[in-house]
Amino acid sequence: METTLQGVGVSHGVAIGEVRHMGTAVLEPPAKQIASGDTAREQGRARQAVEAVAADLKARGNLAGGEAQAVLEAQALMALDPELLADVERRVAVGSTAERAVYDAFASYRALLAGAGEYLAGRVADLDDVRNRIVARLLGVPMPGVPDSDEPYVLIARDLAPADTALLDPALVLGFVTEEGGPTSHSAILARALGVPAVVALPGAGELLAEGTVIAVDGSTGEVFVEPSEQKRAALTAAAAERKAALSASSGPGATSDGHKVPLLANVGGPADVPAAVEAGAEGVGLFRTEFLFLDDSAQAPSQDKQVEAYRQVLEAFPGGRVVVRVLDAGADKPLDFLTPADEPNPALGVRGLRSLLDHPEVLRDQLRALATAAAGLPVHLEVMAPMVADRQDAKAFADACREAGLAAKFGAMVEIPSAALRARSVLQEVEFLSLGTNDLAQYTFAADRQVGAVSRLQDPWQPALLDLVASAAEAARAEGKSCGVCGEAAADPLLACVLTGLGVTSLSMGAASIPYVRATLAKYTLAQCERAAAAARATDSADEARRAVQAVLSGE
Ligand code: PEP
Ligand code: MG
Repeated sequence: METTLQGVGVSHGVAIGEVRHMGTAVLEPPAKQIASGDTAREQGRARQAVEAVAADLKARGNLAGGEAQAVLEAQALMALDPELLADVERRVAVGSTAERAVYDAFASYRALLAGAGEYLAGRVADLDDVRNRIVARLLGVPMPGVPDSDEPYVLIARDLAPADTALLDPALVLGFVTEEGGPTSHSAILARALGVPAVVALPGAGELLAEGTVIAVDGSTGEVFVEPSEQKRAALTAAAAERKAALSASSGPGATSDGHKVPLLANVGGPADVPAAVEAGAEGVGLFRTEFLFLDDSAQAPSQDKQVEAYRQVLEAFPGGRVVVRVLDAGADKPLDFLTPADEPNPALGVRGLRSLLDHPEVLRDQLRALATAAAGLPVHLEVMAPMVADRQDAKAFADACREAGLAAKFGAMVEIPSAALRARSVLQEVEFLSLGTNDLAQYTFAADRQVGAVSRLQDPWQPALLDLVASAAEAARAEGKSCGVCGEAAADPLLACVLTGLGVTSLSMGAASIPYVRATLAKYTLAQCERAAAAARATDSADEARRAVQAVLSGE
């Protein structure tokens, strides 16, 4: 029988496909003893698992090619190391199960590697991955990390960290369902960047949606249909196609129906997101999340050359347009070994964003210089902004660093901390623009971790308190004659985009897939209607009431 589950829809569209689970970390196998008569069989199991994992790694290397192939082949060689296998067999001979023997043999090899100089120590993560794969195979549980599948699938995970998602093949992921995460979690942001439907905050999804089950995910309503009937599938697909067709009619710059311009910009994580942004008609980039460049190797910053190349590819794509680059935002849910303290009791309130960069001025300086080199000679309006600015002192430190690096760009501050919204005029004495990061602004205003599904109600950007802070920043910018955009996920909600416009926000930046929806809705209303909608939303006491009030104003009830 068809069952329907309800989560929070965070990325439009319908995905229908088989469930694949994100493999969780491999648990330590229990130290059970085997009977002496089982030794040969257990050794055979270990050998087979090692060979199968090595063959699989090689095959995936062949498919991937390039740098990935070299890494996967090196991992296959690690799996086949004769000394390691001999150690596994010795451990089985004295009574270990195959999985426990693999686990222990890899542990002693790992200790050797970790102490053998920087290069080999850097291979420890690869070795752990090989061990996890062999142990998972022996235990008959899914492989850890991103599923190994040649067929497209719907990914089910507890939550997705940016480091996991960097490994996803967009051609294979039809959509996501996660147990945790709110509308502003990185799972949601990634789904929108990939343009795939997604539902988050669906508790128990891991257990309720078994591997291999066919499900339909409606990323607009938040519904997940288990084993949908043919009829249901057809109806869902037709409704999604209809919504899409209605949108393709919209094009051109963002504006209200009476011509008040609100540039619609794209949020990108790197050059790979640029084609979708251009295709959606983005008028530039409102948020380039440069930390994705740094997540490949959390032990060190990418080289200058690598940074220059990535920045240039994005800057070149928008001749005459604006590209707002955010300097590295590490820490909290995006930790980097070389920057983020490992022992913080509460990383979201610790040394993250601009705070990390001010502690490591050389990383900021190198990034700003790489940006200056990348932008040289290009006809683009480069703007650079800092994440997690708390006050005027932070804003000044960032502006000074930009000047020292000789950057010909506008310098700005993200407003993600309530203090910066409340004292926006003071922050604006140091910088030329503001950009509201409503994801973190909601997190810090409501003391609600954006990664925790249980508090997603408080992460709702329609909360009137959040709108008050947006209004405070936008009014300050207007008084100072400067601009104030929104680049948090609030900008991607078409109706809320009208409210933000009414609050005085001067540009909206979002994942490319949302641009047509926002453009089409904004074009239906005048600026005066947007202002009335904004006032009505702020006059309520909850996110739901705010939504209803705005719907009533805009539908002329
Ligand atoms: C935000 O916090 O709203 C934002 C845009 O930054 P990120 O989502 O990358 O933290
Ligand atoms: Mg943020």
